[in-house]
Amino acid sequence: MAPLLKPALRRAWRDLNTVQFGMTPAHALTLGPMDTATGSFLDLLNGTRGPELLREEGRRMDLPDGHVDGLLRRLARAGLLDDARGGGPGGDLLRRRRAVLDRLRPDLASLSLTTSDPGEAIGRLAARRAARVQVRGAGRVGATLASLLAGAGVGEVDVRDIGRVEPGDVTPGGLPAETVGDRRDEAARRVARRHAPDRPPRRDTRSPRGQDTQGHSLVIIAPRDDIGVHAPSPSAAEPLIDSGTPHLYVGVVEGTGVVGPLVLPGETACAGCLDADRTDRDPAWPRLVAQWRSGRGRSRPVPPCDLALATTVAGLAVAHALAFLDGRIPSTAGARWEVSLPGLTWHARPIWAHRACSCGAADKGEGEHPSAKVGSHETMARERPSKTPRREGGTARPARIWRAHV
Ligand SMILES: [Zn+2]
Repeated sequence: MAPLLKPALRRAWRDLNTVQFGMTPAHALTLGPMDTATGSFLDLLNGTRGPELLREEGRRMDLPDGHVDGLLRRLARAGLLDDARGGGPGGDLLRRRRAVLDRLRPDLASLSLTTSDPGEAIGRLAARRAARVQVRGAGRVGATLASLLAGAGVGEVDVRDIGRVEPGDVTPGGLPAETVGDRRDEAARRVARRHAPDRPPRRDTRSPRGQDTQGHSLVIIAPRDDIGVHAPSPSAAEPLIDSGTPHLYVGVVEGTGVVGPLVLPGETACAGCLDADRTDRDPAWPRLVAQWRSGRGRSRPVPPCDLALATTVAGLAVAHALAFLDGRIPSTAGARWEVSLPGLTWHARPIWAHRACSCGAADKGEGEHPSAKVGSHETMARERPSKTPRREGGTARPARIWRAHV
């Protein structure tokens, strides 16, 4: 191990014996009391020295025996310590690919804020390379989020759609103007690949790319069709439910952006649950949906989907998708986040698993909201690192040493 104080957090002295790590309430912590010698010692935690060398430096600075180890333990417990050699084989591989890592350094620094254990951030970043995500829909939202996922290090981003790129599909961050007239799915895949920091990992040729829904870490359903966004079809999602494939809904409908729900089949509410719940609340819902869908074939004006809203929606969807791929359960599991013009203030609507839906989430949940079931993600995917911050364990925390920044 080569201990490294997380460089993502700025360090400053609040007073003569208290150090503050970080500036913002979301991630800042204070550490004290701390004497000047220990404060100077913190500068040595830059990832260039192992524990043995650090103990030697501590002796040279007249720090008491055991002080260095105690300090490292406390810093690690607070989630402030990283490991410049951590992250396992994936982390080693990424460090060897310097150009790739340099592209991803800001993403790595972000991950270091939401992970706890030393080396965990780079391990998770490296694991994204093995992830396979399929994006269904290559309009303004879908093409942008496909590029964002590839740029964030997701190894395989497949895009599915029909038709050819139209001028209104062009988006900074999504499909560029020179793709107008090209096949939409191919153009979006090509653009996503161009944004990837690394070549995609080789795939087994026996499982041809995109032929199935099996083996996808996540499918993102981003329809260009606004009815598909507002009233996602339960039957279209059946193969995903049956194969246990996690999927996330996203899109823009009439000036409202929608992100969610993230469906963990059999665990959290699906499109069928949403539809059944809406029918309970509004008996006219099925009649309305039937009329909207029956009018779908007719030519109609271009649906509203301005660049700012499309980009906002794509950004939040990618943040939730990456959180899921990184091993956490984002708040879109069991909820739809919505944002409307012109205020663009996000709010979440809970989506409850419905007893009448065949997905089985209602039996599993027993009325419990998925945000309370933090353990369920581990059962869905293999080899996910622990997401529970380890802020206890080891030696007892000394009284009045740590406190949350206010
Ligand atoms: Zn359901």
